Amino acid sequence: MRNRWQADFVAQDAVEALIYQARCVGEEPALVLWGGGNNSAKTTELDFDGTPVQAMRIKGSGGNMLAMQRRDYPAVRLAPLWALFEREAMSDEEMVRYVRHTLLDPDAPRPSIETLLHAFIPAPAVLHTHADAILMLTNTRGREATVRACFGDEVLVVPYLRPGFQLSKLVGAAVRANPDARGLVLMNHGLVTWGETPKEAYDRHIELVTEAEAFVAQRVFPAAGLPSTAASAAQRRALAVRIAPILRGLLSREQRVVLRFDDSEDVLAFMARPDAAALLQVGAATPDHMLHTKRAALWAPLPLDEPLDDEAIRARLRAHIDAYEAECRRRFAQHYDSALLSADAAAQVSNLPRVIFVPGVGMWTSGRDMRAATIAADIAHHTIAIMQAAEALGGYASLSDAEAFHAEYWPLELYKLTLAPPERELARRVALVTGAGHGIGKAIALRLAAEGAHVVVTDIDEAAARAVAEQIVQQHGMGRALALRLDVTDEASVDAAFEQAVLAYGGLDIVVSNAGIARAAAIVDLSLEDWQRSLAVNATGHFLVSRAALRLMRRQGIGGSLVFNATKNVTAPGKEFGAYSAAKAAEAQLCRIVAIEGGEHGIRANMVNPDAVFSTQLWSPELRRQRAQAQGIPEDQIEDYYAKRNLLRVRVSAEDVAEAVFWLASDRSAKTTGAMIPVDGGVREAFPR
Ligand code: ZN
Repeated sequence: MRNRWQADFVAQDAVEALIYQARCVGEEPALVLWGGGNNSAKTTELDFDGTPVQAMRIKGSGGNMLAMQRRDYPAVRLAPLWALFEREAMSDEEMVRYVRHTLLDPDAPRPSIETLLHAFIPAPAVLHTHADAILMLTNTRGREATVRACFGDEVLVVPYLRPGFQLSKLVGAAVRANPDARGLVLMNHGLVTWGETPKEAYDRHIELVTEAEAFVAQRVFPAAGLPSTAASAAQRRALAVRIAPILRGLLSREQRVVLRFDDSEDVLAFMARPDAAALLQVGAATPDHMLHTKRAALWAPLPLDEPLDDEAIRARLRAHIDAYEAECRRRFAQHYDSALLSADAAAQVSNLPRVIFVPGVGMWTSGRDMRAATIAADIAHHTIAIMQAAEALGGYASLSDAEAFHAEYWPLELYKLTLAPPERELARRVALVTGAGHGIGKAIALRLAAEGAHVVVTDIDEAAARAVAEQIVQQHGMGRALALRLDVTDEASVDAAFEQAVLAYGGLDIVVSNAGIARAAAIVDLSLEDWQRSLAVNATGHFLVSRAALRLMRRQGIGGSLVFNATKNVTAPGKEFGAYSAAKAAEAQLCRIVAIEGGEHGIRANMVNPDAVFSTQLWSPELRRQRAQAQGIPEDQIEDYYAKRNLLRVRVSAEDVAEAVFWLASDRSAKTTGAMIPVDGGVREAFPR
């Protein structure tokens, strides 16, 4: 492993050194993933009354090593922490309360749950990670012997204990008795090193991990070539597109989830092992992974050689998931202790799998959002590497059933879940919007994203779609948007975009059929080409999009909402707008049929009728000129003309339309389908009837 510490780096103080150390560690996924690992430095600080006090800067609980900042390192007073070393026992709650009292700044974030472990090690700097190479040694059946074979007696070894007071004492006693040891291995958990400075602790860490990597490399040989999987990449993806919505529907039985698909080579190679299912059943590589992946992944084979219809796939997957849930419930009944964890806190843990392998097809990970699903996937990749190496080193082993249960249901780990911001109204949902690169479609995409949805931003103008998706990701976080080119008049393009959306998120909950064009001409002057072009986009386009949506949502089986962007012209057509109004009338009737046919599946379909939204591409300079002419007014007065024409005397914006679309897309309108909502400032002759 490369030592990333730049020789010329000079830290101004201990916290800066810790931030730098954390980044060196965080940049190496084989050391820590996401919120894993922690580091500390003992310092002298000024207490609130100005007196110097021996203190320790320690990473806050749950922070990501890659993105630590100054405020993520609260200072704790060391004297009262050291006093605890004399105690026999201490409960987790007592420990957390006690540690909170030692904070120099009472408003600082909660210090790491491994604060005592750091405090009890007498060295000035301490670093702890869950390095893959160390877990490859410790998660073996002959774990102590494997660690000794690698490091001899130069490192200390502490048996597995759940993090907490007892483990901290054990580690503190071991290091105090052997201060010259090179490091300390926590069985089935990770590595601790220390030193006079954060750099020294880091250097020792990298040395030990590098030695472990070399040890593993000498004994574990990669499988000879990739196994020949029956299916080609294209066949696999086609299967994944069919399976994903069904799987997503089944995994959304408590709350909706997004599903991330992964058919990387390491996943395919792992699934081809005859012992893959047995290895997965052994359990997680290190306790803090369980927060993201649960103890074990779901192994969900499907008889891919047989012809499988959707219902057969659904029945098989449901049986696998039911069995997984039943096993979780059995373990809960066996190990749950209400003295350790309240029923409310325990209820935070779902019994549904987070990592699902369908052999021959790929791996799905689930989460409340794409970030959570990606964390689970990253951990799964490292876990299967650790499993295979440990298997070659004597047999993969993990925690006992009881240890694993108490690690998964450990209150201090569950606390990290409460740090997540509260969910927005459209959280856990996935929306696809057509024509979302500009104007009303863009306003809709941004609005749905702001309400928490993941948004598939589609447009025939791919660059415009990408710009909107990038804006959403910047504002709302990784994976929250995907840009796709979609030509609504092209059957293959529509189907391909829906397949991409399914591979990206597992399915869709909301489809906004928005893309449209306007061509103005009196019937006598209207070319057949313009007529057909309007029908292709404004009628057939909505048909292709809603058909794809219906097929997908029915397969998914958890309902859905379609929103059509129609127009005021549906109820009140205007002259010289024949091609547009006739095609839009077809769209409106299509929406009603979708509502009729979707109802029994919980799929709703509604439309908005905007009028005179000038901030759209639809209102090209040419159209402005034509409509001004048709109304007999000067071109520069057209916006005023339309504003004066409506009852409320207002201008209608794209955001006004997006507001109505949000209402129809969300559960706020759960009892409404087949409806038409004008967003036109009130146009009397356009009242729906
Ligand atoms: Zn740890």
